[in-house]
Amino acid sequence: MERKTYKLHDIVMMKKPHPCGVNEMEIIRMGMDIRIKCTGCKHSILMPRSEFEKKLKKVLRSAETAE
Ligand SMILES: [Zn+2]
Repeated sequence: MERKTYKLHDIVMMKKPHPCGVNEMEIIRMGMDIRIKCTGCKHSILMPRSEFEKKLKKVLRSAETAE
């Protein structure tokens, strides 16, 4: 399986959309835990890295590659 790579400030899509209906989250903190912020309602969620990797579907936009 392909290894998922993500960096701080990347925009990611999760397997389940946020209750507000938006499925774009920005990574705003990376450490042992990862904090992501919903780009729709600005609500932020903190979760362990292992849980984040399980729930991550794909990286939509990388912070460094502007495209
Ligand atoms: Zn939301």
